Amino acid sequence: MSASAALLPGAQNSTPGAGPLTLGVLGGGQLGRMFVHAAQTMGYETAVLDPDAESPAGRVSHHHIRCAYQDPQGLAQLAAICSGITTEFENVPADALATLAATRLVAPGAKAVAIAQDRLAEKAHFGRCGVPCAPFTAIAGPADIEEAPADLLPGILKTVRLGYDGKGQLRVADRAQLRQAFADLQQQVCVLEKMLPLALECSVILARGADGAMVHFPVQRNLHRAGILAVTEVFEGNVPAALAAQAVQSACAIAQGLSYVGVLCVEFFVLQDGSLVVNEIAPRPHNSGHYSLDACDQSQFDLQVRTLAGLPLTSPRQHSAAVMLNLLGELWGPGLDATPPWDAVLALPGAHLHLYGKRQARPGRKMGHLTLTANSPQAARVSALEAAQILGIEAF
Ligand code: ATP
Ligand code: MG
Repeated sequence: MSASAALLPGAQNSTPGAGPLTLGVLGGGQLGRMFVHAAQTMGYETAVLDPDAESPAGRVSHHHIRCAYQDPQGLAQLAAICSGITTEFENVPADALATLAATRLVAPGAKAVAIAQDRLAEKAHFGRCGVPCAPFTAIAGPADIEEAPADLLPGILKTVRLGYDGKGQLRVADRAQLRQAFADLQQQVCVLEKMLPLALECSVILARGADGAMVHFPVQRNLHRAGILAVTEVFEGNVPAALAAQAVQSACAIAQGLSYVGVLCVEFFVLQDGSLVVNEIAPRPHNSGHYSLDACDQSQFDLQVRTLAGLPLTSPRQHSAAVMLNLLGELWGPGLDATPPWDAVLALPGAHLHLYGKRQARPGRKMGHLTLTANSPQAARVSALEAAQILGIEAF
């Protein structure tokens, strides 16, 4: 369904007596939870579809439909109560979005999500937009392994579908390791990417409305450890200005080419020779944008609500320098049941603690994040390094 009129906050559902408009989200993780908070702040009711009874978003939403993402009855129920529906995780079946879009406003659309779910389709899209990515080849069977160009090694073998947080990818030094890695990944269709010499990683988060209007956040500088985002730093000078401008321009071209509606994150590598290549896209708010909750006048979740509801988009303004630390399960100690020293952390100036309400810590599991804001990059970094030391996070 196309967006004909905005879903104004405070308006009523078309069913008499049904209460305020309801916005829905497929997926109940932390991104869904922060979307729900933003939507509720603006006076919408919310519905979350997620099979897990204890999902972080389901537990704070007005409605929680507990079923699989492709359950026809659950999807029909979501469509019945929601005026607009979005998604919070990449691997929500694109078919489910297409089904919902037959009767309801859905953003982002199934086509854009399907491209983001398939690394080969994604790279083809980057090519169409004229944005360079790492050299790669498709690996679908043993013949592809033997024919893969030697200059792609050493490389990284990534499954085409369903990878996240470094899962579904293996580093390979030579062809023998490539054969082994393909077997270890159950011979799923993969891409082999050349291992690039990275100087740094960064990302751009933008929001695009159905009318084509686009706004973006400042470029985020990201540090990954073991394939998982560990630290995001956002302040003047975090990335050389010319590269930042190029990243924003490339991200906008990628969104434009998808006729994208919603919040989109584009991840980039800056190579040691100073060139910029795109890594991948996420068709949703992104972990590297969580600082926007505390350091900007609008968060990425506020903009997700606005794009979904067809409301005006205004440029977000960052008012504080920010460093975000991801809080992963290992901070809960060897038994995964200790409480980290939040009191010491919260004694630091500009500390903003966000915990996602997950019942059980696991190593590598994203339990929350901590953003340190300040009026200068130096002050934000000093607080963040102190917080890292208190929590036992390696310095950066
Ligand atoms: P997520 O969805 O959580 O962002 P992912 O599992 O989809 O991650 P990628 O973004 O493809 O994985 O890769 C994870 C990290 O591995 C990158 O952020 C980067 O640090 C490293 N990496 C990936 N591809 C390359 C490459 N071609 N050369 C060098 N480093 C790479
Ligand atoms: Mg990534």
